[in-house]
Amino acid sequence: MKDCIFCKIINGELPCSKVYEDDDFLAFMDIQPVNKGHVLVIPKIHKESIVDLDDNLVKKLIIVGNKINKAIRKSDIKSDGVNFFLADGEAAGQEVFHVHLHLIPRFEKDGFGFTFPEGYVDKPERDELEQIAQKIKSNV
Ligand code: 5GP
Ligand code: ZN
Repeated sequence: MKDCIFCKIINGELPCSKVYEDDDFLAFMDIQPVNKGHVLVIPKIHKESIVDLDDNLVKKLIIVGNKINKAIRKSDIKSDGVNFFLADGEAAGQEVFHVHLHLIPRFEKDGFGFTFPEGYVDKPERDELEQIAQKIKSNV
């Protein structure tokens, strides 16, 4: 895709600090890391949403992500944990519209995290959970 930053990284028009590459995927350092060792894994094919990615590539995205996870843990970055994060859609925080999986090394009290909406602490009734489960289940 002509105007896609990540496609430009894949075809070498823009630089990146590469961590891993195979026929279908590229992994490289995020230019603005949340923490030291923040890596992005992207499919070489341009797809805006994971919904449009072939199932075999979805599987491989997690496998490559886990390779990077293991590598981060083996390295001397010494993270206390790693977040797998994928923003699917603008409202979910997606800013670059080429599928990408974040691997974010985490450290105790590193200041990164989600904020929760008002009312989050109140658990919904089982009936409500069942109704919502049904809406999703009928579309799986
Ligand atoms: P999103 O918010 O879409 O989930 O994440 C996009 C990520 O891409 C951000 O963490 C941002 O720092 C990273 N990013 C944006 N432009 C570039 C770039 O040109 N090079 C690299 N390596 N990362 C980028
Ligand atoms: Zn792209």
